[in-house]
Amino acid sequence: MLATIKERVIQLQRKQFGLGDIVEMKKPHPCGTNAWKVIRMGMDIRMKCTGCNHSVLLPRARFEQRLKRVLVSAGESEES
Ligand SMILES: [Zn+2]
Repeated sequence: MLATIKERVIQLQRKQFGLGDIVEMKKPHPCGTNAWKVIRMGMDIRMKCTGCNHSVLLPRARFEQRLKRVLVSAGESEES
């Protein structure tokens, strides 16, 4: 039971996200859209604004700081 709680805490802290996910950031893009598609995962995360197709490269740590929530998880069905 303790282990389960601990796992959940880690998941919350890590904010699970993956390639192809649509994410919402703390601040919307200047174009007014706040939905970004993750198009590259690595040391840096590349995401593309779904409103104007502008893409941004962010270090993973900064991406995680700015991430508010995952709107659509692309990999959810494949992993299980
Ligand atoms: Zn935009």
